[in-house]
Amino acid sequence: MTAPDRTEVTEAEADAEATLYCTVHPTVATNLRCNRCGRPMCTRCAVKTPVGYRCRECVRSQQDKFFDAQMLDYLIAGAVSLVISFFAAGLLARLGWFLFAFFLSPAAGGLIGRVVWQLTGKRRGRYMGMVVGANVIVGALPFFMLNPLAIGIYLFMATGAAVAQFRLHL
Ligand SMILES: [Zn+2]
Ligand SMILES: [Zn+2]
Repeated sequence: MTAPDRTEVTEAEADAEATLYCTVHPTVATNLRCNRCGRPMCTRCAVKTPVGYRCRECVRSQQDKFFDAQMLDYLIAGAVSLVISFFAAGLLARLGWFLFAFFLSPAAGGLIGRVVWQLTGKRRGRYMGMVVGANVIVGALPFFMLNPLAIGIYLFMATGAAVAQFRLHL
């Protein structure tokens, strides 16, 4: 069997819904298509994923997205954590009674985690937890002298709750 001529393939495709050829291996006929980008692919190129068969390129780009958040995501995560933490810690420091810290801190941390998670398109970043944790702390520090006990509790509990959202599940 000879390799199909480019123009023959195009004509055949235009004719009827004729045989497809793998994008990577143009001589291999197939009826599989990547369910993300739609390109034809042979069984050697197809990768089985939980959402169906995909080409290697799409699988790789999905993995990149899964593991590495963009720089913008880190900036958003840092800014959101800093601002929410600043207001939460400011409120807590003024409430006076330090026991409020036990209720307010996990709630504030959880809120920060959820808001960052949504605003960054739920992308996973290796350093996302670190960025969020650091900014939760920095946002609360200006209020430390105002109410050291409450903010001390806050620093541990809010940071822990916010960072918990970004543990990598591999
Ligand atoms: Zn694809
Ligand atoms: Zn192939």
